[in-house]
Amino acid sequence: MAKKFLVTGGAGFIGSAVVRKLIRSTPHQVLVVDKLTYAGNLDSLSPVAGSERYSFVQADIADAKRMQEIVGGFQPDVIMHLAAESHVDRSIDGPGEFVQTNVVGTFTLLQAALAYWNKLDAARRETFRFHHISTDEVFGSLGEEGFFHEEYPYQPNSPYSASKAASDHFVRAWYHTYGLPTLITNCSNNYGPYHFPEKLIPLMILNALEGKPLPVYGKGDNVRDWLYVDDHADALMLVAEKGRVGENYNIGGWNERTNIDVVRAICGLVDAMAPDASLGPRERLITYVTDRPGHDLRYAIDAGKIERELGWRPAETFETGLQKTVSWYLNNPAWWERVRSGVYRGERLGVAV
Ligand code: NAD
Repeated sequence: MAKKFLVTGGAGFIGSAVVRKLIRSTPHQVLVVDKLTYAGNLDSLSPVAGSERYSFVQADIADAKRMQEIVGGFQPDVIMHLAAESHVDRSIDGPGEFVQTNVVGTFTLLQAALAYWNKLDAARRETFRFHHISTDEVFGSLGEEGFFHEEYPYQPNSPYSASKAASDHFVRAWYHTYGLPTLITNCSNNYGPYHFPEKLIPLMILNALEGKPLPVYGKGDNVRDWLYVDDHADALMLVAEKGRVGENYNIGGWNERTNIDVVRAICGLVDAMAPDASLGPRERLITYVTDRPGHDLRYAIDAGKIERELGWRPAETFETGLQKTVSWYLNNPAWWERVRSGVYRGERLGVAV
């Protein structure tokens, strides 16, 4: 049955992957609510923007009046909440914006959703879902062993992860206190097409392509568990429709890699797909830079619950996903050239930041 999905942060990396999938592979109607910060880019939605089931509104999730009007006006069956400040380095330099959007914004959206939900008839109250999209970084850092499972204690270490942890707690409280039908997912690091080039994988692909230095934090031995963004989008759509209300689901790709291994793999793929004899092997471009303060050593997700309960498994391995990603960046210079020049939002990167 066709439903109405309100997707916050739908112009971002993961949100746009979800929206493209919702429009292409379901009969659902989608309203994207996005402030269009530096990370929001309508170019990422242009493949589906022509659909009559798609609409967009520019708004700040921390604006209570607008959220009430938008939620009440659209009458969603599902709210998928992805809007956030998402970059750890930026949270270290300026944590205030993270508290404002991730904590105050989530609280504001919850209030708008609750006011709307309270007025629904019994049948629609029963089926409504508020799906909060979060990160595995709320669990802190692992040592060499072990995995984050759903009962793992919250131990956020960066301003970003602290703000996401706070938002998770608010969502949980709105379920337990007010009965709002919520779902929370905590996912590992995503990568794939349309990823803003300040994040590790797209940054390394583009720098390798252009023969620029490849800056790696510390010794490059931090471990992340990588998931291809379309696999995450599939998991999110499954949880939104089939997940058990009030539950948390961890999502990960069973793909642990050290940062240096990721960068070396990118170098190999760029060498193979875009050979440049004048540069030689791209690994020569790797430069080690001072580590990020409070840099978590290792994240690894136990994705057993979503597999057992909902039958989700990632379709891509790290090798297949990375190959697709490098190939997408090589074939879509128009997207990242506009991002890098700032044309997509009428200003130049660096000036805006
Ligand atoms: P992103 O930075 O690419 O996109 C965030 C989007 O939110 C942008 O379109 C931005 O314009 C919008 N936004 C920011 N502040 C807003 C506000 N106040 N009101 C309305 N819109 C606002 O982020 P992403 O990587 O796509 O991540 C999406 C969500 O998934 C985030 O909640 C993030 O915490 C979570 N997450 C990300 C990862 C990852 O690896 N990228 C992993 C796990 C979870």
